Amino acid sequence: MNTYLRIAIPTPLRRQFDYILPAKFHAKPPQIGVRVQVPFGRQTLIGILLEVVHETDIPAQKLKPIIEVLDEQPVFDSELLQLLRWCSFYYHHSIGEVLQNALPVKLRQGAPTHIKAIRRWLLTPKGKQVELDSLKRAAKQIALMGDLKLSPSGLLDSQLTKQHVGWRPVMKRLEEKGWVQSFEENALPQAKPVIQAPTLNSYQQQAIDRIIRQKQAGFHAYVLEGVTGSGKTEVYLQVIEDIIKQGNQALVLVPEIGLTPQLLDRFLQRLDGRIAIMHSGLNDEERLQAWLNTQAGAADVVIGTRSAVFSPLLRPGIIIIDEEHDLSFKQQDGFRYSARDLAVKRARDLNIPIILGSATPSLETLHNALQGRYETLLLPERAGNAIPPSIQLLDVRSQKMEHGISAQLLHKMKEHLERDSQVLLFLNRRGYAPVLMCHECGWHALCPRCDAHMTLHQSSSHLRCHHCGTEQFLPSTCPKCKSDDLLQMGFGTERIEHALTELFPQYRVIRIDRDSTRRKGSMQKLLNEINNGKRQILIGTQMLAKGHHFPNVTLVGMLNADHGLYSSDFRASERMGQLILQVAGRAGREEKKGEVLIQTHHADHPLFKPLLKHDYPGFAKTLIEERQQTELPPFTHLALLRAEAVDQQHPMIFLEQARLLLEQTNQSEVILMGPFPALMERRAGRYRAQLLVQANNRKQLQSLFAISLPQIEILKTAKKVRWSIDIDPLDLL
Ligand code: ADP
Ligand code: ZN
Ligand code: ZN
Repeated sequence: MNTYLRIAIPTPLRRQFDYILPAKFHAKPPQIGVRVQVPFGRQTLIGILLEVVHETDIPAQKLKPIIEVLDEQPVFDSELLQLLRWCSFYYHHSIGEVLQNALPVKLRQGAPTHIKAIRRWLLTPKGKQVELDSLKRAAKQIALMGDLKLSPSGLLDSQLTKQHVGWRPVMKRLEEKGWVQSFEENALPQAKPVIQAPTLNSYQQQAIDRIIRQKQAGFHAYVLEGVTGSGKTEVYLQVIEDIIKQGNQALVLVPEIGLTPQLLDRFLQRLDGRIAIMHSGLNDEERLQAWLNTQAGAADVVIGTRSAVFSPLLRPGIIIIDEEHDLSFKQQDGFRYSARDLAVKRARDLNIPIILGSATPSLETLHNALQGRYETLLLPERAGNAIPPSIQLLDVRSQKMEHGISAQLLHKMKEHLERDSQVLLFLNRRGYAPVLMCHECGWHALCPRCDAHMTLHQSSSHLRCHHCGTEQFLPSTCPKCKSDDLLQMGFGTERIEHALTELFPQYRVIRIDRDSTRRKGSMQKLLNEINNGKRQILIGTQMLAKGHHFPNVTLVGMLNADHGLYSSDFRASERMGQLILQVAGRAGREEKKGEVLIQTHHADHPLFKPLLKHDYPGFAKTLIEERQQTELPPFTHLALLRAEAVDQQHPMIFLEQARLLLEQTNQSEVILMGPFPALMERRAGRYRAQLLVQANNRKQLQSLFAISLPQIEILKTAKKVRWSIDIDPLDLL
């Protein structure tokens, strides 16, 4: 009987590949879920073994043997493998790429699954007695001993390497003298409860009791809907504490920028267990070690961003998603999965509880709660002594504005600053000015590769396209008519920062946006300057809206809230409301009362009304009704077929043909819309178009694509474009 291996290979092709198992492996056949090295075309690739079969449709002369088996133990256990196969099916993405995406980079490249311990060096009792003076000429030994004397908990290899060049031979000599000793320990940080929990308020207590008591029931989805500062994190902490006590693991997903050291510190000082961290700031080795330790069960808690939803869990106990409404949980290119949706699916498969926490839950999640699929736990009040800030609109119609700031807002800023409070201004646009225009001839600075304006960046004297990154030097005269009367139109954070420095010379301004935090560690530095009071006025983009805790900020000003009111994106108003309440959540987090002022040209827009009363449920209810009437998600389900090419015609032609194929298969009431050119048709030199597919239920969408995609894939015109499918897309533009 022949034996073949069915293997997932990292290629966009949506299929599996069969290989021969050479005789030398017959005695000890590889396990499902291990990595195997295989020839693929002219390359050698690393795939994952999915199945061992005894029959294949592939003609014998085309079958090749595998080259090597890389693992004895599977890198994916059956639970994870099943989840990832489901992902491939649901998102219609190649299984090989889905699996590859779930592995740390080092494992993709073939690194061994070896857990490295770290070594800690300490003085022995004998070493503690040694007088440094007695070491006279051994300067290196003196330095090492001196440092060790100052570090009662010892020093790690990594710390020593940073501070003492060539320390190893010196340490060896000290060890031989019996002055130092070393221990190996796990690489994950160890949390120790050194800070006491606050006394819970009754809402927190109820939420925690409910989750802990219900635990035996297995899968259960909770929406922890708590206003900003209501103590959601406190609820997570106490639930996790219980999970660890039971000997289980907690998986905590946080938004991309939300993974602040502040949060990690809080976990480290409250919990009792090891914490694995997984986010994009780690290097490949750190990530590998966090992953392997989690797989081995050494981590009690895993905190990570989006892709941590694929963490290998040995003893899963609970999944928590903080700020579940956050857009960063959806991958926006390649394998476009939603980590939030997958987390719910995974919790269901694992039969464990899941908490979806947010002050402003997504309409999808609220809809699930209304349907009775999720249970809502409310935290309606701020924890401790903090009271919610007042939110008011500033009608700026025909008001005199100074650099985009109204006189009323300036007045309020003065008031708060004079009381030694900090002021936060929020504007969702970085750079100096979004448009540069010639006053003589009307020329605009447009991106040569996109249908978009170039943004003026004053500090670097550049024009930069925020869509493709193209940069140009700032012209001093109009390239068309040579006039030097160039107008800088509109405001970005850089311009506001500039203006504030002039308007408030006695205070110091700090800007936080993607430009000012590009370098590693700079965000933390800026946050420190805010929290130690060195800066009084903060100006920033949405980066500042999330999760941060600024105890001394009492006034928050939103310079422009109007984008969300009349946008072509049907999710824009939902996002606007979430943003306003999240931004408002930065004001008055402690004893001092906070105030939020929102500049708008549409002060009488009905959507603002509930927001002013902090009534997110009321706000969301209106939007949910609107979605129902307009038959949009969550009441219908969408998929988007996207295509782009250098040639303007190709995407449209491909999508027309794809549409025909879909129409031939479509027997249900799935609605096809388009193809249309994208709203910004040209981006980074490519023309883009899309076809929108809408269905009343997911099954219809699934089966339609399951049949049509193999046909679409082999269209001749498919080769002339880059195309992709986005299931449950967040962005339709
Ligand atoms: P959220 O996650 O909802 O924004 P946090 O859990 O971060 O809220 O709590 C906000 C602040 O209130 C934190 O400084 C936290 O330490 C504090 N806090 C939380 N619960 C309580 C409580 N029951 N009593 C006093 N302070 C609390
Ligand atoms: Zn001109
Ligand atoms: Zn561009």
